[in-house]
Amino acid sequence: MTARLPSLDPAEIHRYSRHLLLPELGLEGQRRIKGTRVLLVGAGGLGSPAALYLAAAGVGHLTLVDFDAVDVTNLQRQVLHGTRDVGRLKVESARDRLRDLNPHVSVEAVAGRLDAGNALGLVSAHDLVLDGTDSFATRYLVSDACVLAGKPNVHASIFRFEGQATVLSTPDAPCYRCLYPSPPAPGEVPTCSEAGVLGVLPGLLGTIQATEALKLAAGIGEPLSGRLLLVDALSMRFRTMQVRRDPRCPACGTREIRELREESAACAADAWDAVPEIDPAELAARLRGGEPVQLLDVREAHEWEAARIPGARHAPMSGLDGALGGLDPDRDTVLYCRSGVRSQEAGRRLRAAGFPRVFSLAGGILRFDAEIHVNG
Ligand SMILES: [Zn+2]
Repeated sequence: MTARLPSLDPAEIHRYSRHLLLPELGLEGQRRIKGTRVLLVGAGGLGSPAALYLAAAGVGHLTLVDFDAVDVTNLQRQVLHGTRDVGRLKVESARDRLRDLNPHVSVEAVAGRLDAGNALGLVSAHDLVLDGTDSFATRYLVSDACVLAGKPNVHASIFRFEGQATVLSTPDAPCYRCLYPSPPAPGEVPTCSEAGVLGVLPGLLGTIQATEALKLAAGIGEPLSGRLLLVDALSMRFRTMQVRRDPRCPACGTREIRELREESAACAADAWDAVPEIDPAELAARLRGGEPVQLLDVREAHEWEAARIPGARHAPMSGLDGALGGLDPDRDTVLYCRSGVRSQEAGRRLRAAGFPRVFSLAGGILRFDAEIHVNG
């Protein structure tokens, strides 16, 4: 990745001989790998195989960030740590194991959380980032920092028997916010410790992350960017989906996000003055029953053209204030958008404008479509 590549000493040439035999990789590819600094966020299930393979492959520098200590229930999948490490900090256990695996690699252990204060500095000091965290707040932080610093984000996540992986934030790839514009509500998505996970699954996905990181480091092959790999371990099916940048993404599209903030704090603040929600079934019943509810679609024109809920009026966020004149403040007003995020924002604006009986359709038109149905 750097213009001047580090050289390999005879011990390294011997150690990496099976790499050097690959014409696509060769001596130059191995020197590129040695010249690469990788930031590994999370030394758990995904980070375990990723760290082991990156160290074994001769990545020049690895920084591991994790705040947690090794628990005996981690050992079912976090193969970086051993039984004798139980109770130790994961980054310390990891550093010892990686130094034993390959003393040619420099390993730095950061015992703590990645947060808005340290994320950009850490990301900027590395060539690429491997996101092995299971926290949504940290994923947004990693993604935003990678967009701001212009670094590739090798991402994966796992759930029970399923996983997904992709390379984000390369010049043509989306960022995490393009794929997931808003975080799930606290408690909506269970973590591994609550939902369970097949132990080998993070091994599979973390190894895919290591593969992508090594390809990026060596500058070979076709990266998994612009594509989302979906893995179902029970049926053993691998599927690839095209994913695109969202021009309205506040991180990599409009570039509204110029500094880092913690997503969880923003969520808590939003929850404080949340607009009450109405379920799709309840809305459908009220529309069928002819109850006088004012239904407003706050999405933009191209979304309204594509599909809408019958009986709705179009009042896009961009022209919301102009639509208030035709509304009766004494009647219930239900707002909906694509997934229920923008309608919350619109609801707060309506309340501030003197409409106390405002509701937001939970899950937006997506959930309404799935649970009821939508006619154009
Ligand atoms: Zn984006």
